[in-house]
Amino acid sequence: MTQKLIALDDGHGMETAGKRTPALPDGTVMRENEFNRRVVALLDVQLQRCGFRTLLVAPTDVDTTLRTRTDAANKAKADLYISVHANAFGAGGFNTERGIESFHYRSSAASEHAAK
Ligand SMILES: [Zn+2]
Repeated sequence: MTQKLIALDDGHGMETAGKRTPALPDGTVMRENEFNRRVVALLDVQLQRCGFRTLLVAPTDVDTTLRTRTDAANKAKADLYISVHANAFGAGGFNTERGIESFHYRSSAASEHAAK
């Protein structure tokens, strides 16, 4: 039986404009890719440990276009595509909201199942 292939996408490059927090209390800024790439690195290890094959579609710190990322996944015939982001929520900038949101193709039961 062929192991399922999961494409992992860390979203943005380290220097992608706008993809960062406002200044934190200590004056530093967290770039979204700092979070995304660490989550993808953990997923990569854990998914392989569980017997999946993985494909990192944006393995560098350079901004990789969505088209390039999805083309790589489609070319490799990935069974699942996971794109990790750290999003702000609500209007008016950053706030104390916390949580996880998952998006999937509405017309795909398999996609919904994977999201759940
Ligand atoms: Zn993002």
